[in-house]
Amino acid sequence: MSFTQRHLLGIEPLHPLEITQLLDLAETYVELNRSTAKHAAVLAGLTQINMFFEASTRTQASFELAGKRLGADVMNMQVGHSSVKKGETLIDTALTLNAMHPDLLVVRHPSSGAVNLLSEKVNCAVLNAGDGRHEHPTQALLDALTIRRKKGRLHRLVVAICGDIAHSRVARSNLLLLGKMENRVRLVGPPTLMPAGVAEFGCEVFDDMAAGLEGADVVMMLRLQKERMDGAFIPSEREFFHRYGLDSEKLSRARPDAIVMHPGPMNRGVEIDGLIADDINRSVIQEQVEMGVAVRMAAMDLLAQNLRRDRLKAALREA
Ligand code: ASP
Repeated sequence: MSFTQRHLLGIEPLHPLEITQLLDLAETYVELNRSTAKHAAVLAGLTQINMFFEASTRTQASFELAGKRLGADVMNMQVGHSSVKKGETLIDTALTLNAMHPDLLVVRHPSSGAVNLLSEKVNCAVLNAGDGRHEHPTQALLDALTIRRKKGRLHRLVVAICGDIAHSRVARSNLLLLGKMENRVRLVGPPTLMPAGVAEFGCEVFDDMAAGLEGADVVMMLRLQKERMDGAFIPSEREFFHRYGLDSEKLSRARPDAIVMHPGPMNRGVEIDGLIADDINRSVIQEQVEMGVAVRMAAMDLLAQNLRRDRLKAALREA
């Protein structure tokens, strides 16, 4: 079994063995990134375009670094300065970029499904860097690598995902990945921040943090995604922190060796106490960032291999 995908649009289409293959390859890139050389030429000659229609710090920077370390020509399209601001549609922008013959297109967009749509219009590999509240596959993969390294396995763990589940693509991708790898996922948060139809997700749902964190191996905190909220979902941030913010008292319900995760950006004093975020014995937030570069290198490496294979097949057919 090998990685068969042409794009990385979400966790949904991935087979558990593809996930394992990608994480195993990412392990080798963790080592490379810790060495002085840091470079491998696996994307040499390929062009990577990063197109971010939504703000990003970690994801954009790590995709850029990942491409450069693997030898690609990397271009960051400044959406704020581009024709998109002048009313060009997503598809027109994609077709324009397509004419520049990119090999890898990394896209973040505020609308769920926009990246899938775009992947149908271009002839290169597309990587979803987050689309609306739909999916953020490289985030779930980097979280999985962090968990696997810290816990020594990626199965039969109790993982509590806490906070604003309804608006979070991170929660959705993690739920899919952790489910495929046979973990027990709990969703913890106020009913107003739970997605509709949550009962069908096949996970336990809690509106009480103490109960939701009881015996958890992994505690994953999420930001309140105000940019996707149309109305008041919580009484106040103070009240939210009191009931759902992770502090040492609430964390004491989890296993003594439980790790604390956060995809960032983090709002200290809202969903997480700064002391917990900075506690190097519990928090793995910095490791998540490190794993992000390695996972994105692995994803682009695997997709580039498939792209080359498909192009070779097409060339042979034409010959
Ligand atoms: N950075 C993550 C995302 O893009 C999480 C967040 O924004 O809160 O979804």
